[in-house]
Amino acid sequence: MSLKTRLLGLAAALMIIASVASWLAYRELSEDIIERWGQQVAEIQVRYDSARLLQSLEREIGLARQMADSSTLVNWATSPEDKALQRDAIREMESFRSNFRDNSYFVALRDSRRYYYNNADNEFADDQFRYILAPDKPEDAWFFQLIEEGRNFHLNVNPDTELGVTKLWIDVLMRDEEDRIVGMVGTGLDLDAFLQDIVDIDQEGITTLFVDYNGAIQLYRDRNYIDFASIIKPEGQKSTVDLLFDNPEDKQKVLGMLQLLKNRGGATGAVESSFVTVDGRKHLAGVAFLPAIGWFEITLLDLEALLPRSYLWPLVAVFLTSLLVTLILFHLIIRSRILKPLVSLESAVEKVRGGSFALPYLEKPDNEIGRLASHFETMTDTLEHSTRELERKVAQRTDELNRLARIDALTGLKNRRGLDEALDEEIQRAKRQNTGFGLIWLDIDHFKAVNDELGHQTGDDILCRVALWLKAGVRPYDHPGRWGGDEFVVVLSPCDEDTLCQIAARIRETIERDSIRTGTPVTVSVGGYLCQPGDNVDTILRQADQALYRVKQQGRNKVLITDGSGQEINPA
Ligand code: GH3
Ligand code: MG
Repeated sequence: MSLKTRLLGLAAALMIIASVASWLAYRELSEDIIERWGQQVAEIQVRYDSARLLQSLEREIGLARQMADSSTLVNWATSPEDKALQRDAIREMESFRSNFRDNSYFVALRDSRRYYYNNADNEFADDQFRYILAPDKPEDAWFFQLIEEGRNFHLNVNPDTELGVTKLWIDVLMRDEEDRIVGMVGTGLDLDAFLQDIVDIDQEGITTLFVDYNGAIQLYRDRNYIDFASIIKPEGQKSTVDLLFDNPEDKQKVLGMLQLLKNRGGATGAVESSFVTVDGRKHLAGVAFLPAIGWFEITLLDLEALLPRSYLWPLVAVFLTSLLVTLILFHLIIRSRILKPLVSLESAVEKVRGGSFALPYLEKPDNEIGRLASHFETMTDTLEHSTRELERKVAQRTDELNRLARIDALTGLKNRRGLDEALDEEIQRAKRQNTGFGLIWLDIDHFKAVNDELGHQTGDDILCRVALWLKAGVRPYDHPGRWGGDEFVVVLSPCDEDTLCQIAARIRETIERDSIRTGTPVTVSVGGYLCQPGDNVDTILRQADQALYRVKQQGRNKVLITDGSGQEINPA
């Protein structure tokens, strides 16, 4: 994987990690904000809904209480057979009927168990007595239950099968002067109209419901959940608020909130709230207790409806855009500040590795890579300099070795290899210029004897001296050398017969003369050959060697020069 891919991947990963962290922090924060906001909304909504409910009910409850306190009705309830009292009572009931919002009422007498009722249509104008309440009839059980419980006031949602209506009943107990329960009065509110007015409010995302002291649902938009006649149902069979929640935790939460508010004894304005899930959607549940009617009001705020997630799309768009922009910027910065300089540096390294010191243009950003490129340039300069210096020294040393390879270590003259080269050069030159040159071959006479008598060291000294005399006896452009042992060769160029003879004679004489002065006299035999253009090495050496051989034959310490025909050349 390339550096660029890695860096971009790393940047993207880091950004995503940072974004996820920010997102989590944002979610935490926004949940907190939503919770606070939701709680306030829930509180306001709960109070608003409670106020609407109480506003509608308070007047009706007040009237029902007045009716229950009516002495006319109480007197009649104690003597229900008294026709005069009944007439007055019915008149009183009818006057209340016109005052009730629903224009209906009911009166149920305890002793006679007679149930009286009239409605808005005045359907039962002269027939208010409807039926006798029977303790064994389930639909009449509410009456007997309320009397048994002795609760002076109770709200009850109940379908009246006799009358064929479902109503929210306001039940108030009627007591005589001795506080004995003599009956029950009240009015009913049409449940459908009431639900529409109070519960089915057209506010999207807000659901309102009312539950009684035990959590049984009393008013809810879905009638299937309403716990009709909950007063007569045993615990466990009631349709309680927890049925709305699928999650057991949520059930516990809501029941817990009801319990908490109960424990506070219905402190006014107290509202509890918590997040719950209803129909798979997250809701904020706000709960308030309404002490006036002994019910709880629960408001469910659908957060998704009230604060849709689509609100967050701009945020996501901003995030994605900033991610993209950041990656592009990062890419451009990496390219200009890191990758391009690195690529140019890499190609420079390749060039140097290939032996070239001519570096391409190196990008030098103001960072570590730029400094590295500068250092690399300096290093390359130094390397080039030292390489050149090394090469120069190697060449110098090679020249020296080459020279030494052609020098005789003892005498400092050319050795055999040096002489061979000089001879080759002369042969080529002679061919080119069609001129001759000379070659002298000389050998110390009886040198073995010198060695034997005076020692090897003296022998060496003599060889060195002969070399010096030889050098002194030739011209600066001649090539004197030691062929080996006590044999020396001189290549003379250019050279004619006379010069060859003169130089050969001079050498022999010098050695003979000067050696006497050293106290170790030696003589040399000298053979010479006047080379012709076209002679090869073998011919030349053989001719010179034969001339020398002949000198040795003739008694030594002489010079003998021959030409191409093998004839002896004598000095003019
Ligand atoms: P001739 O007159 O026939 O040349 O007799 P010679 O004794 O000189 O015989 P030759 O030239 O064949 O012998 C050469 C001798 O030179 C043999 C060897 O002992 C001696 N010699 C060869 N190289 C060296 C050297 O480097 N140093 C010394 N001291 N002696 C050498
Ligand atoms: Mg010799």
